[in-house]
Amino acid sequence: SLSDRLTSTFKTLRGKGRLSPADVDATVRQIRLALLDADVSLPVVRQFTAAIRERALGEEVSKALNPGQQVVKIVHEELVRVLGGESRRLHLAKNPPTVIMLAGLQGAGKTTLAGKLGHWLKEQGHSPVLVAADLQRPNAVTQLQVTGERAGVQVFAPEPGNGVGDPVSVARRGVEHARARGHDVVVVDTAGRLGIDEDLMRQAADIRDAVQPDEVLFVLDAMIGQSAVETAKQFDEGVSLTGVVMTKLDGDARGGAALSVVTVTGSPILFASTGEKLTDFEVFHPDRMAGRILDMGDVLTLIEQAEKAFDAEQTAKLAGKVERGEDFTLSDFLEQMQAVRRMGPLKNMLKMLPGMGDMKEQLEQFDERELDRVEAIVRSMTPAERDDLKILNGSRRARIARGSGTQVSDVNGLVERFTQAQKMMRQMRSGGGMPGMPGMGG
Ligand code: GDP
Ligand code: MG
Repeated sequence: SLSDRLTSTFKTLRGKGRLSPADVDATVRQIRLALLDADVSLPVVRQFTAAIRERALGEEVSKALNPGQQVVKIVHEELVRVLGGESRRLHLAKNPPTVIMLAGLQGAGKTTLAGKLGHWLKEQGHSPVLVAADLQRPNAVTQLQVTGERAGVQVFAPEPGNGVGDPVSVARRGVEHARARGHDVVVVDTAGRLGIDEDLMRQAADIRDAVQPDEVLFVLDAMIGQSAVETAKQFDEGVSLTGVVMTKLDGDARGGAALSVVTVTGSPILFASTGEKLTDFEVFHPDRMAGRILDMGDVLTLIEQAEKAFDAEQTAKLAGKVERGEDFTLSDFLEQMQAVRRMGPLKNMLKMLPGMGDMKEQLEQFDERELDRVEAIVRSMTPAERDDLKILNGSRRARIARGSGTQVSDVNGLVERFTQAQKMMRQMRSGGGMPGMPGMGG
């Protein structure tokens, strides 16, 4: 398995102090295999691993993780980012009804999804209607009617007995019906195709032009694997997709198609379908999908534990240093700051503290970017400068400001505040510690 392979890669990397191209390449090679195993298409794997390699080589070496772990962490972060970061919501029309058109290969799960979407939308307080614009297969309309009934959602279908109707006209009348009856969302089910079929694609484009959808969702069977790229590309060219829904994620496919399709179409994944029942449906979570594609939950857990252990170690080391009467330097400060920031945005952390509710307004004004600036300034200093601020002459300060993209006045401000803080800590020590602050005495 990938975990085994990576563990052996980690073994050979352990003990090295920094990310060298060889370290990065060894891990990237394993990641490449893992992605191919997960059925990500080759061009997408190439593009993705090239981006990873570039980012990993530019990365400052972590003290908490070995190089292999550090590369894996970068891979996971990038995968989550490419898969959409935070989940994207449905685009709702300013003037209802919102029109959602479903497109995809035959058997992808469009009709099933129409029922699930209808059910979910109803739960969200909407009043949806499903439109049966798949007149290709004889029982397609009946299938949607049965699904709609199960979901408790109205279905608009062509009158029976009029021969084969025109799906474009049904779709248009479906939207008119929704508008007239006050339905605020319309889900248009369309005919699938087994392969790429020009007539059916033209029909889908005609339906799209007729109903002017707010969302064109590409329904993608997670089991489809490598061919996802070509299929998605064709549908994107044919009907201009705005989003993707992954289906059959209850199967054992690793879901590499997700990465392929998002890369090729540039459309985010909105929902995940995980079974045949109406409720086997959820908003898509990029982080879960990233974990599934990489198939290395245990490695990611290890990484998390290593970082936590490192933070605890740093805190203990720092406490010992202060107790021994040594100066708290900017190097210590940088390590502390990184440990704190790894725990997430400070604003959110502070909000979790009891009694912080009263300070909501101040918290809203708290600017994470100020921390970014401080961190950039400290990072632009050499280790010697961090440990002895007295050597910071004018030209060094100018260099640090340039390197950190700040002003010399910002550098001066930080140096001044930090020198004050150091002085205060020294006084506290010589004064036998501040009352009420155990552990700060010397
Ligand atoms: P369509 O041709 O795109 O409309 O696909 P259907 O909605 O008719 O689905 C094709 C088959 O896949 C049906 O047997 C569905 O029950 C099944 N199906 C749809 N979604 C899922 C899913 O998320 N998981 C599983 N296991 N089966 C699904
Ligand atoms: Mg169908």
